[in-house]
Amino acid sequence: MYPRLVIDLKKLDQNLKAVAGITKRVGCSLAIVTKCLCADPEMVKVIAADPQVDLIADSRVKNIKSFADIAHENGKRTMLLRIPMHCEIEEVVKYVDLSQNSELSTIRLLNEEAGRQGKVHGILLMIDMGDLREGMFFQYEDKIFEAVEEILQMPNIKLCGLGVNLTCYGAIIPKANNLGGLVNIARKIEDRFGIKLETISGGNSSSIYLALNKELPESEMIIRQGGLLPGETMDTYRLPEGVNNLRLGESFLMGNDTAYLTKLPGTTDDALILEAQIVELKEKPSIPIGEVGVDAFGEVPEYEDRGVIKRAIVGIGKQDTDIGGMIPLDPKVDVLGASSDHMILDVTKSDKEYKVGDVVSFKLEYGAALHTATSPYVERGYVR
Ligand SMILES: *Cc1c(COP(=O)(O)O)cnc(C)c1O
Repeated sequence: MYPRLVIDLKKLDQNLKAVAGITKRVGCSLAIVTKCLCADPEMVKVIAADPQVDLIADSRVKNIKSFADIAHENGKRTMLLRIPMHCEIEEVVKYVDLSQNSELSTIRLLNEEAGRQGKVHGILLMIDMGDLREGMFFQYEDKIFEAVEEILQMPNIKLCGLGVNLTCYGAIIPKANNLGGLVNIARKIEDRFGIKLETISGGNSSSIYLALNKELPESEMIIRQGGLLPGETMDTYRLPEGVNNLRLGESFLMGNDTAYLTKLPGTTDDALILEAQIVELKEKPSIPIGEVGVDAFGEVPEYEDRGVIKRAIVGIGKQDTDIGGMIPLDPKVDVLGASSDHMILDVTKSDKEYKVGDVVSFKLEYGAALHTATSPYVERGYVR
């Protein structure tokens, strides 16, 4: 049945080995993030089988619950990325080995629940280094120290280290300065409390370029377009000493770093393919006829006059995917637009004679993959 998300498990394994290689060469532990595909069980098997993976991570407890057994059987810890909700504390303690936290009230509840379950629950304290999503704000160090002081007295919580998340809300790029700032805070905590923090988790797929750069000669390093900013050196673009964990989702699935969108060596960007079937194929004009109002989503559409064209409608729409993130494998097919259930393609210039019933294939960007994996209307297939 179509539409269908086809997951090439061999290609995912290839990407996994590539990103694991980059991560491990610079001494980082590796958390692979499963949320984009809703912790697809076949994908999880590939991740669990790889000896280089240390943690299997997701933002949703429901997904973690689905893979906690296979993770543990394969010697991997489970990790919760989203700050826990108070309503899910019991399940967090039950299924999650390491959770990311930023609220003392929540950590207190985790401590009490871990006591009830006879466990010690591991946490990373999240520090916000400027992206302004989750974490204790880096400029308020006293608040951070106060929180650590209380956490260290909790009998059923183990403070495993610190974490940062960047390039999510504020689109801030990880560099040696903001990640170095995180390492500094960790060192201050260690000195002040006489402890050793095991883990300094330096972010998501937007940080992997720094790890790659650490090993590359200057001429091949990935740096911002336009070169160094005032006060920067090439070291600004290398992973700072002390960062020893990365959490990777998109770079594993799509093979790109998400800071500068470069392709990572040894990866492929076509492990995920969306297939949709043509339900109508007709020659029609490219400009609608009549008074223009608003489209199905309340927006005023814009059209390009391409004359009379071959228009194919495929059976997928905005309810199932992010249209802007679907790239036809046939380079001569253009996406014109979509409503909830219909996606319209211009197939005029294609070398292929499309007909009704044919299947059109697309590569997916992250948002499109996320939506298709979440839609109950999209079937799944696998290449093994
Ligand atoms: C989603 C998420 C990740 C993984 O991000 P990618 O860009 O897919 O690598 C890592 N950490 C946190 C906190 C996340 O929410």
